[in-house]
Amino acid sequence: MKEINAADFQQEVLNGGKVVLDFYSTECPPCEALAPKFEAMAELYGEKIKFLKIFRQANKELATSLGISGSPTLVFFDNGQKILDTISGGIKKAEIVERLDKMISPDEVKAIKANQKKTVSEYDVAILGGGPAGLTAGMYLGQAKIKTVLIDPALPGGYMGITHQVSNYPGFEKPQPGFMLAHYMSEQAKQTGIDFKVAVDITSVDLAKKEIVIDELETIKAKKIIIGTGTTPNTMNAPGESEYKGKGISYCATCDAKYFVDKEVTVIGGGNSAVEEAMFITKFASKVTMIHQFDKLTANQTAIEQLQANEKIVVLYEHEPRKFEKRGDKMVATLEDLKTKEVKELVSDGVFVFIGFKSNISVLGETLPEMDKWGYIKTNEDMQTNLPDVYAIGDIISKKYRQITTAVADGTIAAITISKEL
Ligand SMILES: Cc1cc2nc3c(=O)[nH]c(=O)nc-3n(C[C@H](O)[C@H](O)[C@H](O)COP(=O)(O)OP(=O)(O)OC[C@H]3O[C@@H](n4cnc5c(N)ncnc54)[C@H](O)[C@@H]3O)c2cc1C
Repeated sequence: MKEINAADFQQEVLNGGKVVLDFYSTECPPCEALAPKFEAMAELYGEKIKFLKIFRQANKELATSLGISGSPTLVFFDNGQKILDTISGGIKKAEIVERLDKMISPDEVKAIKANQKKTVSEYDVAILGGGPAGLTAGMYLGQAKIKTVLIDPALPGGYMGITHQVSNYPGFEKPQPGFMLAHYMSEQAKQTGIDFKVAVDITSVDLAKKEIVIDELETIKAKKIIIGTGTTPNTMNAPGESEYKGKGISYCATCDAKYFVDKEVTVIGGGNSAVEEAMFITKFASKVTMIHQFDKLTANQTAIEQLQANEKIVVLYEHEPRKFEKRGDKMVATLEDLKTKEVKELVSDGVFVFIGFKSNISVLGETLPEMDKWGYIKTNEDMQTNLPDVYAIGDIISKKYRQITTAVADGTIAAITISKEL
């Protein structure tokens, strides 16, 4: 795989035949998660399609001219023409394969698929999810010499990895960048000898049979499964939201705020995440307008006080977004004033969305553990679900407080329980 810069674009891309170009950034967890998948794809499809990478921060003008404002973004070209739709953010291997398969003939696709081999491996414990909960469980199980695999479609770290600063994880005098905590926890777990299968696609999970298939070809059988798959940010489902995801609408301030130096930004939400991330964005942006549906912010009092002291932030209470459009370089949010029903437009350089979370249960197959009415998994005090040999830990379980400390506690309990059982 080759790295190019804007000066090579004409020669390598526009005159390059069939090309897939990865715009990546540094300090961007989804970019790191994509890198090994992109390399694996390059090995498989490399004879038919050219795989190129370009560092977005150093080639901003080119990125902007192609309408790219999120990292990573994959752009596809054939004979100098942009083809297919671009993909951005937490890109799945299947999304890339779907596009690559459209770039070559059905016979070529068949030949590539025939080259791939199926494998089966066996473990005592498979951990789904490499956030703080899963990493802690992995560390304890590894230290107990239990054969364990940790599986994650992204890089290890979970939300910790994309949190700007963590000031409430014990053991550190000063606030720690979230990605450093993620790094420490992940290295500590790795050193115990457990296997990491990260940045993979989860093809299927069968909690009854205890079988997980990843990347379509690799079956993992385990005696016990720990679910630590966390949560996913809610989307607004407003027209334009999915269209401009990664092209003006972002869900990750750590990844994208740095592109808004001296620009105006809209933040949707009013809970803790929205308030914390809005304050982080003001390190770069000249103005942040927060859109919140209620007449008060729902974040904790300390965060609200810090926000109120921040002169760059304005809050529009009792407003909801109804539509997103792009006009030139600007993002236009159509907002409804929930009190007066008046509809107005808010023009800014980019939109960030932080409006709560839902549990990541959709990939857990047909046999699901018992859940509460909000879709969070019920466990007993040993983190056992109602399904035999299936445990759940961290943000995905039904509980009151979702923090790194509570996630690592759940991981500890599940791992010690399992160590005594095996
Ligand atoms: C913006 C923000 C700021 C925060 N700040 C703080 C803070 O300052 N202090 C604090 O204590 N807490 C903070 N939190 C909360 C804290 O990050 C979470 O409580 C904690 O990360 C939960 O850990 P977890 O391991 O349960 O889940 P997560 O961290 O969500 O990790 C889940 C992992 O599972 C993976 N996964 C998803 N689907 C699958 C699948 N099908 N198979 C396998 N793996 C899967 C994900 O890729 C991810 O790596 C913050 C949260 C957010 C969103």
